[in-house]
Amino acid sequence: MAPIREPPAIGIDLGTTYSCVAVWQHNRVEIIPNEQGNRTTPSFVAFTDTDCMLGNAAKNQVAMNPTNTIFDAKRLIGRKFYDVTVQEDMKVCPFRIVQGEYGKPMIVVNYKGVQKLFTAEEISAMVLRKMKEVANTYLNANVKSAVITVPAYFDDLQRQATKDAAALAGLNVLRLMNEPTAASIAYRLDKKAGIRGETNVLVFDLGGGTFDVSLVTINKGRFEIKAVGGDTHLGGEDFDNRMVEYFVGEFNRKERKDISRNPRALARLRVACERAKRILSSTPLTSIEVDCLYDGVDFSSKITRAKFEELNMDFFNKCMETVQMCMEDAKWVKSMVSEVVLVGGSTRIPKVQQMLQDFFNGKELCKTINPDEAVAYGAAALAANLSGKGSQMIKKLTLVDVLPLSLGYKAFGEVMAVMIPKNTPIPVTIEHVVCSVFDNQTSFQITVYQGERSRPTDNIFLGEFVLSNLPLAPRGATKATIRFDIDADGIMNVSAEEPTTGQGNNITINKRRLTKDEIERMLEDARRYKVEDQEYEKKVDAFIVLEYYVYLMKTKLRDENIRKMLSNEDFLMMVDVVTNAMQWLHVNKLAEASEIEDKKKELEYVWNSVVGLGQSTASLYQMPRFSHITEFWELLRLAGAFACIAMLLAREKHVVDALHRA
Ligand code: AMP
Repeated sequence: MAPIREPPAIGIDLGTTYSCVAVWQHNRVEIIPNEQGNRTTPSFVAFTDTDCMLGNAAKNQVAMNPTNTIFDAKRLIGRKFYDVTVQEDMKVCPFRIVQGEYGKPMIVVNYKGVQKLFTAEEISAMVLRKMKEVANTYLNANVKSAVITVPAYFDDLQRQATKDAAALAGLNVLRLMNEPTAASIAYRLDKKAGIRGETNVLVFDLGGGTFDVSLVTINKGRFEIKAVGGDTHLGGEDFDNRMVEYFVGEFNRKERKDISRNPRALARLRVACERAKRILSSTPLTSIEVDCLYDGVDFSSKITRAKFEELNMDFFNKCMETVQMCMEDAKWVKSMVSEVVLVGGSTRIPKVQQMLQDFFNGKELCKTINPDEAVAYGAAALAANLSGKGSQMIKKLTLVDVLPLSLGYKAFGEVMAVMIPKNTPIPVTIEHVVCSVFDNQTSFQITVYQGERSRPTDNIFLGEFVLSNLPLAPRGATKATIRFDIDADGIMNVSAEEPTTGQGNNITINKRRLTKDEIERMLEDARRYKVEDQEYEKKVDAFIVLEYYVYLMKTKLRDENIRKMLSNEDFLMMVDVVTNAMQWLHVNKLAEASEIEDKKKELEYVWNSVVGLGQSTASLYQMPRFSHITEFWELLRLAGAFACIAMLLAREKHVVDALHRA
């Protein structure tokens, strides 16, 4: 009896407009063609009075049945009905979307004469099931497991919803993989022995609906994403829409007929525009012809590549700005990029290629891997890796994800103490030791934030807990170790422990993944407020130094040896100085850094003059012998510094009084 062959795990690129499936077989990745021999399949589902169609069959009839032909489910998956992007999509979408339970967007179709509602997960599940069937036919097997790719900026909800779709399609998800990582694996496998040492790759992925830029460092089998950026709403469909708007205007001008509210006419025009767009990637001029576009009127026109570029120039510029920002995030200069890898059908647009090449000072772009297939290729390689199959190179694959924003806690003085900076590869564990900031402090509050701003409250609050029952001890003597631990799935555990008592506490933070827009906004804020934040940090630093100085003065005045060194009058004056300084600290929390520094200089003068002239702050530790106020006065005169010091000291009435008394 022939052994039962275990079905291989497949890789699926579940795209917004097209999907692609691949498998590791015969010692290489094979892209699996569908029943029509196409290596990519439209992510379309259509409902009619008799059928539910998928892929090419669905796409081919879109113009006849626009309101019941569903595409772009990926734009809706894991989102809420009132999300800005959903509301924006609804304006241009030919099918109806309504609000369902739990605020989910529901797609309304007419199927077999009955109105039905579908979630985006259900539609995506139909696409995934189609891709699974394509693989089953090709492999003559019943595929059970897959690696499915998602945009790098998909949040937790979108990822979870994609997993739900896979479960509905009867697929066990071995791993959800970021699309650019998959593409860089394809690039690495394509190069085979061609890469020596560390290589920095920029993956430029411009597809039908999304745009992703990723900076990836490849070292042997290790793939480390250094930075990611992009736009969840930028791609070929936006370019199509611009052309549609342009021709709607032209039709209106020529025929005095407005088709902007007619879904069927718009869908037919969109199909023609998409075709024209593709042709313009290889020729400078093309024509558009749509029979009976509206009210029995035919439409015929021409468009040049230059016009197409002009219509979309703002989108293309946005792509380059994102590349620039991503490079800045990773602190890469252009010369560090060894290879620019193109992924996604829209990277075939000559203007996009030219702008990218110009950005990299004429560098040749990597076009050896197929932009439509690279993502599925990488996913299939990972699927083989995770199921213990594949070549030596596949077995050595190691993927490293990065944090999109810094993580830290609220430190004394209301500043964000960054524990793990953004773009740090995960999993990661980092420890910091913190000290008590008051005498007899019995608890530490650990408040965790995510973001780039200096003031914790300008960042995102993630959670908090208290480490209590700490032993009584002077300020600075009680210590605790704070530990941030992030696992490969992005789940964060924060713990704190006081080592002498073993007293500990912790919190698990299942970080809500931030949307790309939120991350972009926060990074933009951090850039905009950089100077303000630096000022704030300076202020906090100065305040902490002054506070510590006053605290040391107070502690030293309690020291018997010091008391003996000082006359009663000097001692009382110094107690007065410390008391007033503490009050000053209390009411001047918002003082400027320069004011705080002046205050410290002033106190140093008094302390050094009364307790140890000529000594810096260190005198507080060393306690030099110079205590008598009369000698101090004499020395001041000798030094000729009276005027200057008196001016400084005059700022505090109690000090002046003390000097008069002296
Ligand atoms: P993807 O999401 O990667 O499958 O990319 C699909 C997008 O690529 C669609 O918007 C297509 O219209 C677009 N596309 C495919 N081929 C070309 C081409 N030759 N020129 C311009 N855009 C293209």
